[in-house]
Amino acid sequence: MYHAVAREAHDPNQLCVSPERFAAQMTWLARRGLRGVSVVSLLRAVQRGDAGGLVGITFDDGYRSVLHAALPVLRRHGFGATAFVLSDPPAPENTWDEGTAWPLLAADEIRELAAEGVEIGSHGATHTRLTGLPHRRLAAEVADSRAALGEVAGGEVQGFAYPWGAMDAAARAAVAAAGYTYACAVSTPYRGLSTLALPRAYVGDRDGGFELALKRRLHKVNSIWKGRFA
Ligand SMILES: [Zn+2]
Repeated sequence: MYHAVAREAHDPNQLCVSPERFAAQMTWLARRGLRGVSVVSLLRAVQRGDAGGLVGITFDDGYRSVLHAALPVLRRHGFGATAFVLSDPPAPENTWDEGTAWPLLAADEIRELAAEGVEIGSHGATHTRLTGLPHRRLAAEVADSRAALGEVAGGEVQGFAYPWGAMDAAARAAVAAAGYTYACAVSTPYRGLSTLALPRAYVGDRDGGFELALKRRLHKVNSIWKGRFA
């Protein structure tokens, strides 16, 4: 799970990975015979029983740096990825976090990413926390964003990523009702693991090979362990 690929002096939430670090992390995958793919491709491979060596790569929020800094690196390796973007951001930059007003992808840039083979998923309409939302607002964030992004990207939107990773049973039901085939959480509770609450591992700027190897192993163990209760 990535957010921005940029060098930012002020990054209190550690959402940025520098372009150099990102390139090194993708090289780390490639050298181990691993291949970065979109989540939808990963899930199809899992269904076929053919997901060995595949790693889902995701970017939340839809920062412009995904297009300019991450895409060239992905392309170099022939990797895919999923970008979870907002359909109706409150401003052209991040306004939901304090002091990190980084520019977001415009509609034509989202289209460009899609044309380059990056899967476009929804991160909601406005980056609103879904837990506890009234039914109608929940539907607007989840269903309306799917329809809007489908038009922007020019294809069916399959995936959703919960803003702040926050979800409950009502949010998962809204995602299913809206027609998504999967949704990404951050960490999932016991009994919560499903294709509507896929766990992800945070990858940051401090993560070198040792940390990536550890995170990969922990992610696997965590998924298998929680899968027993799903
Ligand atoms: Zn987000």
